[in-house]
Amino acid sequence: MALRSVIMDKEFRLFNTLTGRVEPLVPIEPGHLRFYSCGPTVYSYAHIGNFRSFLTADLILRTARAIGWKTTYVTNITDVGHLTDDDTMDPSGEDRMARGLQSKEGQRFANVWDLSRHYSSALQSDWHILNLLEPDVRPRATEHIREQIQTIEQLLACGAAYQTSSGVYFSVESFPNYGSLSGNKAAEALELAVRDVVVDPEKKDPRDFALWKKDAEHLMQWHSPWGWGFPGWHIECSVMAQAYLGQEIDLHAGGEDLIFPHHECEIAQAEALTQRPFSRHWVHTRFLQVEGRKMSKRLGNFHTVRELINDRGVAPLAVRLALISGQYRKPFNFTFSTLRDSERHVQRFGKAFELAESAKNRGHNKASMVGKTLEDRYQSVLNALLDDLNTPAAIAQALDGVRTILGHKDQLDNRAYTFMSGVSDLLGIVPTTKAHKTTAHPTKQLLSVNRPVAQTLSEASSVDPLTAKIEELIQARSEARKTRNFTLADKIRDELLAMNIEIKDSPNGTSWRKKSNI
Ligand code: AMP
Ligand code: ZN
Repeated sequence: MALRSVIMDKEFRLFNTLTGRVEPLVPIEPGHLRFYSCGPTVYSYAHIGNFRSFLTADLILRTARAIGWKTTYVTNITDVGHLTDDDTMDPSGEDRMARGLQSKEGQRFANVWDLSRHYSSALQSDWHILNLLEPDVRPRATEHIREQIQTIEQLLACGAAYQTSSGVYFSVESFPNYGSLSGNKAAEALELAVRDVVVDPEKKDPRDFALWKKDAEHLMQWHSPWGWGFPGWHIECSVMAQAYLGQEIDLHAGGEDLIFPHHECEIAQAEALTQRPFSRHWVHTRFLQVEGRKMSKRLGNFHTVRELINDRGVAPLAVRLALISGQYRKPFNFTFSTLRDSERHVQRFGKAFELAESAKNRGHNKASMVGKTLEDRYQSVLNALLDDLNTPAAIAQALDGVRTILGHKDQLDNRAYTFMSGVSDLLGIVPTTKAHKTTAHPTKQLLSVNRPVAQTLSEASSVDPLTAKIEELIQARSEARKTRNFTLADKIRDELLAMNIEIKDSPNGTSWRKKSNI
């Protein structure tokens, strides 16, 4: 109890975009963090940049739990109404989902609903593979249309919104605090924020953004008091955050591109109605670059998580470690050299975990300095994370502890195990065995099997890593079925499907094949 209160007294400091300072994160309800992080638009597979932002949220969650806080974590799936960069040219407002369907990859889907189902299931499987903690709720925009319509009605009723022949718009002029997050108060700033600019001569102010778009031709449409159409992008997040976390929340996060206009607009929509601060703290992750350049398909340096893992055979935990190796707020350059180092580190974490596990029942040897050193190391890992998520320092401290374990095999006591499981819970980069109970879903341990990056990235390998992985998953599914764990068996089948692998059970066993049409 005493230890718990000492831990709970720790200060968790994070940069707050709203104030421009590193400040203590102070939950409204002491010891209970209510947190919303913007999820992806599911029109294609998530890339490593998306996951760098999701990992910032994951580390915040793990750190908060480590100091004894209760957490309620919500992260959404955007499956509608996300306008593309060309909206100023294309006032009909084709969204990213519709674009996704027309792409070469997207043409394999019968409709936009199938497209969204496929990519959200793929997202969740990438999420598991990279060992991110499950949110308490993962709401979808399309499942909250009614709440969005109700909020728009309230905004119209209080004079913060108005209707034109093309839609319903939020009146920026009615909200004097607009710009407080990003500093973008001027209309010109909208040129930088093309993602939700709609050209409509009836708009009162060019800054006004869409809450509802009337469009009876659109691929995804719902009936509303303003006719058939679909909601604007920003309204979904403020509505879902408030639906699950309350009118005032503790923390809201996302990538740096969301500061403006998305989060600025969320604040306006929420606060215009409540007249209270929507979120106390705002955290934004700096964009990832690859080998020193902006990640783009055109430059050939665009990587999805599944491409690295399934096609190049990189160990999932090495991808995770590489993505968190730079602090979230600093410019971050993802390189294959970091990935190779991460692979080696993950293997060392695995070895240290095995040794620590075998020392688990040795008790607490007061004479051992090694145990004391590891206790101190754990505190240093935690303190580094509490200091604005200083992941490079946290990882360095964790590796120092690993070195101590590997170098003092005979002097370990149960504190080695406490250290390794503590580091695993905090950073999520330790390949653990079945005996180690983590918060991880069982498929995660299975999917985290290591394969040397060096082998797969630079040398020709005699083993096809994809085939090996498929067979491992099929084996695990058979075992799950034997023990009547059908939930796990179904999850593994879904994971295989997301990898485009179809399986068939027969009395002779399970066979698989690559799906040809998908
Ligand atoms: P989107 O699907 O584009 O809405 O992105 C989902 C999340 O990933 C958002 O929080 C984005 O800000 C974030 N994101 C997108 N690209 C990157 C990148 N290159 N680096 C870091 N975060 C990114
Ligand atoms: Zn959002």
